[in-house]
Amino acid sequence: MKVIPYIDDKKCIGCKICVEVCPNRVLKMSLKKAVVMRPEVCNGCALCVENCPVDAIELKWTDL
Ligand code: SF4
Ligand code: SF4
Repeated sequence: MKVIPYIDDKKCIGCKICVEVCPNRVLKMSLKKAVVMRPEVCNGCALCVENCPVDAIELKWTDL
């Protein structure tokens, strides 16, 4: 079990902050929204969650 981020693309305003603060390059921009690109390397640090200005990111437990 590990945590991975989920992004609510209805809330995301495309600011890229999460992409820039993620130490493991889990996230990237696609069509002006953040998307989860490499969930397997997420370390659960929550920097993306803490820095998103619109609370669009959530960490959830997964079997991955
Ligand atoms: S929790 Fe940390 S490692 Fe995982 S996506 Fe967010 S910033 Fe990146
Ligand atoms: S920090 Fe939040 S609003 Fe900004 S790109 Fe990431 S998910 Fe979207």
